Amino acid sequence: MRVLRGKEVRNRIFKDIEVQIKNFEDSPRLLSIVIGDDPASVAYSNAKGRKAAALGVMFKCLNINEKTSQKDAEGIIKDEIKNFDPDGIIIETPVPGHLDFVRLTNLIPPYADVDCQRMDNLGRLLSGKPLYIPATPGAVLEILKHYDIETEGKDIVIVGRSMTVGMPLSVLLLRKSSSANATVTVCHSRTKNLREHSKRADILIVAAGKPGLIDAEMTSPKSIIIDVGTNYIDGKLVGDVDFESISEKVSAATPVPGGVGPVTTAFLLKNLVNAYERKRNKIKHGAGL
Ligand code: NAP
Repeated sequence: MRVLRGKEVRNRIFKDIEVQIKNFEDSPRLLSIVIGDDPASVAYSNAKGRKAAALGVMFKCLNINEKTSQKDAEGIIKDEIKNFDPDGIIIETPVPGHLDFVRLTNLIPPYADVDCQRMDNLGRLLSGKPLYIPATPGAVLEILKHYDIETEGKDIVIVGRSMTVGMPLSVLLLRKSSSANATVTVCHSRTKNLREHSKRADILIVAAGKPGLIDAEMTSPKSIIIDVGTNYIDGKLVGDVDFESISEKVSAATPVPGGVGPVTTAFLLKNLVNAYERKRNKIKHGAGL
């Protein structure tokens, strides 16, 4: 089995943006908002902080208590945006269930929406004219491209239909473009016979947040597997795929850790560099796509 490591892909992206950042007059500023203490949210934010510092990006993590009301959370975020004046903003997910995520994302200025979290930006993505491609789906596409994995005409099965990963990824892979043109099936918790779908996939992308959901029985020898899952079991990071079980059977797979995660961070920082330029060049909202 071919192991599709994210490190090479990440390093290539960093090499490009490092040069751009060095030529900027000042440091791009990234605000990461973590509401509550979900381990995956905290880990994503920390990873961005580490990489941002190494690249000369000014990074701030705004921690908001998980019991904060909608009104108070909105007030805290508005104040921070005013004070820190970020070029890019990401609200780490998941957020506590009592909060209205759409209303929170509406506080992000469109040009600073580097993870494409605002509904209007998701609409632009659907229409084929995104301001930014969301980082995790972008990372999956970068991995496929880096390893010369063709998608045109392929059966791609995505497990998960969230607005962060599964849904936008399905749209991107369906685009009428030689770098997409896939036949996409999106599965979710109510899908009957997941195994039937996963087994026939040429490319199986798993973003369910369920450790061990996919094992060798759910795959076939032709399967190329991209594991987006980020789960912590007794403090250890694992994906949604039982890597050991599938490694004897499938054609290629991303590991966890060391697969999609590092590329996601790099992709987000690439979007931040674009956001910095967009703001400085005063490119109007909706222009320069
Ligand atoms: P989410 O919002 O919880 O969505 C999970 C999706 O998986 C839902 O659509 C859900 O179906 C589906 N699902 C859950 N259990 C299933 C099952 N047994 N069979 C089939 N489908 C099932 O999660 P998310 O934000 O998309 O994230 C998914 C995973 O990716 C998480 O582990 C997250 O931490 C990880 N992640 C990783 C990165 C990275 O850079 N590596 C970035 C973002 C997220 P329903 O819609 O029916 O509920």
